[in-house]
Amino acid sequence: MTESSESQRSRGKHPAEEVLYSRIVEAITDKQLRPGEHLNEVKLAESYAVPRSRVHRVLERLRDEEVVAFELNRGAFICRPTVEESMHVLEARRHLEYSVIRLVCQRHTPEQISMLRDFLVEEQAVFDRRDPQANRKAGEFHMLLARMPGNPVLERMLVNLIRRGVLIQSVYESSSGLLCLTDEHRRIVEFIAQNRPEEAVHEMAHHFDHIITSLDLHAGRGSATSIYSVP
Ligand SMILES: [Zn+2]
Repeated sequence: MTESSESQRSRGKHPAEEVLYSRIVEAITDKQLRPGEHLNEVKLAESYAVPRSRVHRVLERLRDEEVVAFELNRGAFICRPTVEESMHVLEARRHLEYSVIRLVCQRHTPEQISMLRDFLVEEQAVFDRRDPQANRKAGEFHMLLARMPGNPVLERMLVNLIRRGVLIQSVYESSSGLLCLTDEHRRIVEFIAQNRPEEAVHEMAHHFDHIITSLDLHAGRGSATSIYSVP
């Protein structure tokens, strides 16, 4: 391999980096990796048999997506969003999702509607058997909608906010656990299929209100306990 093609490859997305990136993202979504957890570069390099430089690049990519933060002399950690940041992420996500719904109403194909309906059947099955991956499945509904307008810029922004939403949920969820209700997803899809954008957006707004009330977004929940703060 020539030097120029090697440097081109290293600038692109290397398969080993993609595997590690996807694995970390899945572990966050499935709550195997929690906010505040340390990511050990040496161990990751050994486990995935990739050079440490590649592990570092994956962690830098996750830092750019505000999923991982580096601390001086301590390495990389899964971000722990504050209450204020969480409110900002949820507000931005809500408004991007409204825009996505309006665009999907304008642009959808019959195949996309079938895809959404097929997805709802699968999602219901996952919920009915109380599958531990139900949260991941519910997130996929929002990811699927994000892809449908065919605008990769909008999709990337929204996927990033959905992912950060998982971190918010990990820190602030109240006991009930599941945030997305399948019947709300179903109503959104039916309004889209009937080209009724305002009703679809209204249903999504209701869905978001529901998500926010399932979170305990009060100051103090997100910060680690400190022995220096007097209760
Ligand atoms: Zn949902």
